Order: sequence, then C-alpha cells, then structure tokens
Amino acid sequence: MKVKAQISMVLNLDKCIGCHTCSVTCKQTWTNRPGAEYMWFNNVETRPGVGYPKKWEDESHYKGGWKLNRKGKLELRAGSKLNKVALAKIFYNPDMPNLDDYYEPWTYDYQTLFGKESKHQPVARAKSQITGEYMDLTNGPNWDDDLAGSDRSFGEDPNMQSIESDIKGNFERTFMMYLPRLCEHCLNAACVASCPSGAMYKRDEDGIVLVDQERCRGWRFCMTGCPYKKVYFNWNTNKAEKCTFCYPRIEEGLPTVCSETCVGRIRYIGVILYDADRVAEACEEPDDTKLYEAQLGLFLDPNDPEIVEQALADGVDMETIRCAQKSPIYKMAVEQKIAFPLHPEYRTMPMVWYVPPLSPIMNYFEGKNSIKYPEMIFPAINEMRIPVEYLANLLSGGNTEVIKSALYKLAMMRLYMRAKTSGKDFDP
Ligand code: SF4
Ligand code: SF4
Repeated sequence: MKVKAQISMVLNLDKCIGCHTCSVTCKQTWTNRPGAEYMWFNNVETRPGVGYPKKWEDESHYKGGWKLNRKGKLELRAGSKLNKVALAKIFYNPDMPNLDDYYEPWTYDYQTLFGKESKHQPVARAKSQITGEYMDLTNGPNWDDDLAGSDRSFGEDPNMQSIESDIKGNFERTFMMYLPRLCEHCLNAACVASCPSGAMYKRDEDGIVLVDQERCRGWRFCMTGCPYKKVYFNWNTNKAEKCTFCYPRIEEGLPTVCSETCVGRIRYIGVILYDADRVAEACEEPDDTKLYEAQLGLFLDPNDPEIVEQALADGVDMETIRCAQKSPIYKMAVEQKIAFPLHPEYRTMPMVWYVPPLSPIMNYFEGKNSIKYPEMIFPAINEMRIPVEYLANLLSGGNTEVIKSALYKLAMMRLYMRAKTSGKDFDP
C-alpha cells in the first residue's frame, strides 16, 4: 500500500441554481486576459444539453485521438487519424476541439443597432470578440435552457438517447438540471499521460494537476487526451492552460474561488487519503457499472491508526492527515455514499464528485407530488422527474441501484429536516 493525499471537491447538485457566479469569479481570477477569452476553467452546463465544449461526452465528435483502455493506459482510438507519422508532425492533431466547439465571447454590431434609423426594431448581429467576424449563434452558455423538450437538445446529448422516446411528446416529463464542471484532478490523469513534453504534472503533496508553462510546447495532446475536455489552448502564449484548483489559495488555507463565491453553497472541499498502489488495478475493472465502486475502494479511512502510520511513512504530513480527518469528502463519498464521480467509465478516476439532485414526483399518489412520509420514498424514486437512469449515466457508469440508494437517503434527510424545523416528531 502507498498512501497519498488528494484534494477533491463534492458538489451538491440539489442546490445549484445555475447562476454562474462560480464561472464569472473564476474567470475574473484566472482567465481574464488575451488568449484566454473562450476559456472557462469552471463552467455550468444545462442538462440535458450539448455541454461545453459542444458534445464533449460524444466520443465520435472528437473521433480519433487518445482514449484510456481497460487497463487505464492511453492508446490511440480505433480509426484514429493519429499515427506515428502524425505524431512526428507536431501539430497534426485534428481531433481536438476547435473554437467552434466552445461558446466564444461575443459582442454586438452596435452601428447596426443604433447607427441608422429604421421603422423596424433594430436587430444586432453577434460579432466574435476574438476574430471580429459575424457569428451564427447556435451555442452559448445554457443555450439548452430554452430548448428543453426539443428534438435538438435531446438529439445532441448521447446520454438522452436511451430515454428520448419516453419523453418526446410528453412535455410534462421534460426536465433540466445544472452541472457545474471543472478539471477533475484525476488520480489517473489522461492529460498527464498524453503530454509529450512532460509539462503536465500531478503534484505529489495534494494531487492538483498543473501545466508547467516553461515546459509546455503547445502539442495540445492534453486537449485530445482529456475525456472531460478541460484543457484549453491559449492562442496568445501558445501554451496549454487549465484549472489550477486555485493552488495559491489552497496553500494559504483558503478555499477555491468558485467554492468561496458559490451562491448556493453547493461546494465542499477536502482532502482524501487513497492507496496509490491500487489505482492501476481499479482502472482495469472490466465492468463500467462497477468502476464507481472500484474507485471508492481506493479511499482509506483517515481515522484508522494503521492508515495514519502508513501515511506518515509514505511522506504525507500530519497537517494533511488532520485535514483528511475533518474532511467532508470521506463522509459524503465513503461513509454516506451520497456523492458520485462524473463519468467513472472514462477510467481517469476523477476527483470532483457530485450529490445527485432530488426532483418532483410525477403522477404519484393521485397528484401528490412531494414526499410526505418515509414509506413513500422508495416507490417515489422511480417517479422522480429527473430519471434515475439519466443520473446513473452521468454519475455511476449506469449503476442505478447506488443512485437510488443515495436519493433515498437524501429524501429521508429532507423529511427529517422538515420535521425538525417545524417541531414535529420524525419516525423513520
Ligand atoms: Fe487532466 Fe482532464 Fe483529468 Fe483534468 S479532467 S486531470 S485535464 S484528464
Ligand atoms: Fe451553481 Fe454555485 Fe455556480 Fe451558482 S455559484 S452556478 S449555485 S455552483
């Protein structure tokens, strides 16, 4: 066993209101400069939706390039346009996202808007702030909010295809939710593995994944390698950039900017101890639906004296161990099992985890759409507006049972809190 410490985050999706405060404060801190206009180290996606960059979950969209195999190692995708000859040509990397896949910042052609008289309402065209050209706006932050229920929003989201037919024509059952996203600071980081310059690295002390700007040569294989598409290319410096988990703040004992400014208070930060010797073995789990549990099995109890002794022997300092003992991450992920990794089937062992959202009950108990008694919870979970299958596709590699169990606990907690705040008895 080799004990390592990893900083990580849990986001409670039940509380995200999609306000983008996190995205904006992150942008003001980290990417408010030339070359970084289109970068959002933190973004908030509407779900179901195409995401940012467009269709990032759709492997066929970024066909070719790298993928992690069942052993958690990088290999070229079947049919990839990349080959050894291509690798020799440094910039032949055709399958990374391009600017059209991101929503670039736009402004309006104000001369059209204000410069001439018209009896009609003036209609300004959007102009790219980067190229200055007129844009055909077909994507933007939370564009999908307005498309809920349309063929377009479902058709472009691979997660929706299995349940699309159930929902089409049944407007009452359409749903949406928000998914804030940042770099996952993965235990088995594909960006690090795919960087030919050794510029991308994972810090030993806390697992934060960073780009050494001095060493980056602009190959951009990290962009194709990262399945979450969370590395960006700065056109001004010709270097890769990504979320830094606000490491200068973390080193001063402060939370990340996105966490500190989150309006919904949905973000929890903490350290978790894990067995680094077993990461490769966990990645080899052949069954996608068991990858969540394989990753869970890596986490170690920070209050176990034997683990503490081993951690100290492996170079983890006592302050970090104390952080792990107080951390909410172990409690939510391991003890309560209410937090889940985003797309564990990508096999990078992501370390930003999510509490799935509760949603209203559809067609349940003759029109009653809220859970009033504990015995209502289990049957109600299958009737929740956001389908359990959808959440399982996002958060557990398709394992619906673990999601149902978490929703049960969350609903029970809500009943308990309601009873407590109204001074009533609670009898589960
Ligand atoms: Fe690297 Fe992507 Fe994982 Fe972040 S999410 S550590 S950029 S592979
Ligand atoms: Fe959601 Fe918090 Fe970001 Fe607002 S600030 S979008 S509530 S994560």
